[in-house]
Amino acid sequence: MMLAYMDHATAAAAEPETMELATVADAAECAAARDFGGLVSARPAAVVRPASADDVASAIQAAALTAHLTVAARGNGHSVAGQAMADGGLVLDMRAVARRTQMQLVLLSGAAFADVPGGALWEEVLHWAVSNHGLAPASWTDYLRLTVGGTLSNGGVSGQSFRYGPQVSNVAELEVVTGDGQCRVCSPSAHPDLFFAVLGGLGQFGVITRARIPLSPAPQTVKWTRVVYSSFADYAADAEWLVTRPSERAFDYVEGFAFCRNDDPVNGWPSVPIPGGAHFEPSLLPAGAGPVLYCLEVALYQHHHQHPDDVEERVCEMLRPLKYVRGLEFAAEVGYVEFLSRVNRVEEEARRNGSWAAPHPWLNLFISARDIAHFDRAVINGMLADGIDGPMLVYPMLKAKWDPNTSVALPEGEIFYLVALLRFCRPSGAGGPAVGELVEQNAAVVDACRRNGYDFKTYFPSYRAQSDWAAHFGSKWARFVDRKARYDPLAILAPGQKIFPRTP
Ligand code: FAD
Repeated sequence: MMLAYMDHATAAAAEPETMELATVADAAECAAARDFGGLVSARPAAVVRPASADDVASAIQAAALTAHLTVAARGNGHSVAGQAMADGGLVLDMRAVARRTQMQLVLLSGAAFADVPGGALWEEVLHWAVSNHGLAPASWTDYLRLTVGGTLSNGGVSGQSFRYGPQVSNVAELEVVTGDGQCRVCSPSAHPDLFFAVLGGLGQFGVITRARIPLSPAPQTVKWTRVVYSSFADYAADAEWLVTRPSERAFDYVEGFAFCRNDDPVNGWPSVPIPGGAHFEPSLLPAGAGPVLYCLEVALYQHHHQHPDDVEERVCEMLRPLKYVRGLEFAAEVGYVEFLSRVNRVEEEARRNGSWAAPHPWLNLFISARDIAHFDRAVINGMLADGIDGPMLVYPMLKAKWDPNTSVALPEGEIFYLVALLRFCRPSGAGGPAVGELVEQNAAVVDACRRNGYDFKTYFPSYRAQSDWAAHFGSKWARFVDRKARYDPLAILAPGQKIFPRTP
């Protein structure tokens, strides 16, 4: 384990003699003091680069010996509100373990699994599984430069979730170091309470050092289609019809987003066509179209053993009854890895124009299907009708695919939508609204959800008052508190979530 940025007294407590110690002049400059959101910053006492689960346990045990130290596992720091930070505490750089640990193929009773470090990026899991074994996990996030431990601590959703479940429903076993510094292996049959606590547990109960992910044969290609709607009612009815079809007659992926009826490259119709170079013909829109339009995005996988014509026929059969605007359909056939890596192009462009490094006041909500039309009228077509300088995802998933034993808080409804306001600010000096205004607008959106009595939850919640956390978890709060007392009694772990204060 390497300890960086730590004062010598703290380092001596945590670091066996063989460990390397490095210090830098200003810890606030280190990556662990920041995250993708760029809205908050917290200076850690030290950054620990563990080489193994034992190192993670040593760091937590050392923190437990003090009256004040906290420990935050940091995956890839892609949170937006300081969730992976530890103000004055230890930050565990989970990427360090991943760099030193090989992924392993595990075969059990004819089924294949990947044993992967908690700090592995999903992109690394994808490349390793496909290139070495022709296999792949079933459930993904849109963007893959997120760590396994980071997304399993939240949920992990994308267009596959309606069919294959979120990532927290696609784990067979975890190795976890709990807040008492013990390393335990847990699964639905061994220490199930710990297993389910950790999934969606916001890092509160343990540090995930290894996850066992089920694998199945990787598809070869993907038939990827986007169609456009001017009516939200039609869009939502079609999306819900698609996600409730029997699996064998469903797409593998269903997503969608709202966009503006203008030619703005970020907010408007140029964000729709695939493949690159395809043309969006606005004159095809019906006369009564409003300022906001909707793009439904679907994909069907093609495996080696399937004939391309058969897959194409299934795509056509599912698209035929949909009520999208005829002529505004776009289709591409891409490799499976290319499809899953599609957001990398967005990252490259955002890095080029400086918006990747600018703040990201993002808001993610789960909103029950019961209330989504009202939300569309009041919020998407109201306060957000001019766009948000980034994708506005709106797509349904099924509660039945989520295990109620996990820690994730979900709306009551059986079908709920992910609404993701993925705002990309312009670099400073390049104009655009002030970040503070966007943060306020997010608060106004949440406020509207409350005032209108929607059945909703925030995804990647960020609250400061424990009463807000209690309201967020609702009927699951008592169990959440009980699990905290059992697995992290001193409240050492994940202080950046600001749920429980450290017990001296
Ligand atoms: P971090 O930000 O480093 O950590 C997040 C939380 O998890 C912290 O509380 C941290 O302490 C804890 N944690 C991290 N590692 C571990 C571990 N090994 N054990 C225990 N706790 C741990 N989410 C989706 O569901 N679907 C998407 O499509 C999606 N797309 C995204 C695209 C982009 C560009 C970005 C920036 C984020 C996206 N997210 C998406 C959100 C993302 O899943 C979360 O922000 C996730 O927490 C980021 O993972 P990370 O590895 O960077 O975690």
